[in-house]
Amino acid sequence: MAKNPKLWSPRTLAAQAMGKIDEPTRAVVPPIHVTTTFLRDPDNQYRTGNIYGRPDNETVREAESIIAMLEDAKAAIVLGSGMSAAVAVFLALKPGDHIVAPTVMYWALRNWLLNDAAEWGLKTTFVDTSDLDTVRAAVVPGATKLVWLETPSNPLWSITDIAGVSEIAHAAGARVAVDSTGATPILTRPLDFGADIVMHSATKYLNGHSDVLAGALATRAEDEYWTRIKRVRAIQGLILGPFEAFLLIRGMRTLSLRVKASCESAMELATRFANHAHVHEVLYPGLASHPGHALAARQMTGGFGGMLSIRLRGGERQAIGAAANVTLWKRATSLGGVESLIEHRASIEGAGTPCPLDLLRLSTGVEDVNDLFADLDAAIKAAAV
Ligand SMILES: *Cc1c(COP(=O)(O)O)cnc(C)c1O
Repeated sequence: MAKNPKLWSPRTLAAQAMGKIDEPTRAVVPPIHVTTTFLRDPDNQYRTGNIYGRPDNETVREAESIIAMLEDAKAAIVLGSGMSAAVAVFLALKPGDHIVAPTVMYWALRNWLLNDAAEWGLKTTFVDTSDLDTVRAAVVPGATKLVWLETPSNPLWSITDIAGVSEIAHAAGARVAVDSTGATPILTRPLDFGADIVMHSATKYLNGHSDVLAGALATRAEDEYWTRIKRVRAIQGLILGPFEAFLLIRGMRTLSLRVKASCESAMELATRFANHAHVHEVLYPGLASHPGHALAARQMTGGFGGMLSIRLRGGERQAIGAAANVTLWKRATSLGGVESLIEHRASIEGAGTPCPLDLLRLSTGVEDVNDLFADLDAAIKAAAV
């Protein structure tokens, strides 16, 4: 651990992975700890606190200390995927507990809440969380234990007032958890706005290179609920593998640079496509025309994110056609990597999706923004209907 971590900014601490040095060798990059078991002391104690690999791994802890620092959290844990992180938060509730969640949110998690979680006894009410009155009406004092938020939320990038929802939830005795994958700790730190738990698909911006599947949770308090969440991870073996934890640490060293570059390019693309003859709507919280713009300007610092969606005048046919025509943009799901990705989102979400059929979701990477615009502009024009 660095000597004066409080003196240095999150960007500085992340760049040096908390300044940790491997003392025996003086290596500036610590080794990857792969052991699954640890030597017991002769008097039968485990003084290092390490016993077994399912709960204990030093490389994993190094990744967690960076995430806790970035989120200004009491503690953090990393898990095998964003979904396993989110599901651990819900499985730490009790059957019969009531949840309030957004109508528009990460699709796979919404499906899990609708189907699997319901079978397990959790009751979820889906509402437009960007409207505080709607949230207030949905929260049942005593029965609601968790309000789940995602901001900006997939794939319309609507913005939810974390502080406003936290006030409502806390008054009713419920916790607030925020899927902050799209915002990253560089742009928004949900705990600063009153949330209790932050979740990331670390597969996305935190790792940033589309080569690790990982999830993260960070907490305001190391309370009984956090203990239950950690127990879900330990019992189910959801801990991230040490090699993946190492790659995640390496990715986070450049997080602030990557996020800044993506935000700048996304803003530029949003502005250019807002004036494009074939585009009838650009969904990006950085645009003054976006309904969540004023709130995003208060809640996000340093940018409005690297994600945006565009809606084409030529409808579904032009959207799928444009995605087929790109060469620089990569036609793939996922987001938050250094390479730009484009996706016809309704195709992957399937029946019942709230996603418009004419929508293309764009994850802006770190390439030259002029190249990105030229490739997509040509692809859209060539797909005109
Ligand atoms: C990708 C994603 C998830 C799921 O994370 P995985 O790492 O793919 O399991 C959850 N929420 C959001 C917003 C995501 O983008």
